[in-house]
Amino acid sequence: MKSLKLFLMLLISLSTAIFAGDDKSNVTAEEAINKLKLGNERFVNQKTIKPHQSIDDVMRVAKGQHPFAIIVSCSDSRVPPEILFDQGFGDIFVIRTAGQVIDSIEIGSIEYAVEHLHSPLVVVLGHSKCGAVTAANSDGEVDGHLHKIVKDIRSNISSQTGGKANSLDEAINANVNALVKTLLNSEPIIKEHHEKGKVKIVPAIYDLDSGKVSFN
Ligand SMILES: [Zn+2]
Repeated sequence: MKSLKLFLMLLISLSTAIFAGDDKSNVTAEEAINKLKLGNERFVNQKTIKPHQSIDDVMRVAKGQHPFAIIVSCSDSRVPPEILFDQGFGDIFVIRTAGQVIDSIEIGSIEYAVEHLHSPLVVVLGHSKCGAVTAANSDGEVDGHLHKIVKDIRSNISSQTGGKANSLDEAINANVNALVKTLLNSEPIIKEHHEKGKVKIVPAIYDLDSGKVSFN
C-alpha cells in the first residue's frame, strides 16, 4: 500500500513536470503589455529590479516555462529584450533575427509559444537606426545569405508604402507593421488563436538613444 502511494506520488510529479509547459498563463494581453511598459520604464529611469534572475528562479523555471509575452526583435547587440524590459528567466520568449524578419522557422517558434506555452501577447519590436532596414531601404546590394534578409525587408516596406520609404524611420515602422500583418494572417495556428482572442499581436519601436520602447 505504501509503495503504491509512493508510485502514485511519483507519477503525479512526473506528469506535472512533463506537462508543465501546457499550463495556462494567467496574464491577459493587456496585462502583459503593461508589464513590459513598466519594465521598460524601470530600465529607462535606472530603477531596474532585475526580476527572476537568481539561481532559485533558474531551478523554478526548469520545471516548466510560462512566458507572458513573445518578443520578435532584431539581433542587433544594442537591443536585448530581457534587459530593456527588465525581465528575467521564464518571463519572455524571444525570437531574434536581423531586422526581425520572420520565415517559417521563426513563425514555428512563435506558434510553439502561442499554442503550447499559451503566451497571450506577441510584440514585434523594431528599433531606430536598424542596419538591416537601412540596407533594405537603400539601392545597394548585399552578398551571401544577407540577400534574403534584405529582400524580405524590402518586400515588407513596399507592402506598406508601395515602394521605398521616404525616411529610415518610415521604413522601420513599415517593416514592423508588415510583420504584424504577416503574423495576423499566419495560418493555421496564429491566425486561429488571434481570431479566438487568445493572442494579441502588437508593434513597438525601441529608441536606441533613449532606451525607451514606444507601443503604437
Ligand atoms: Zn536592427
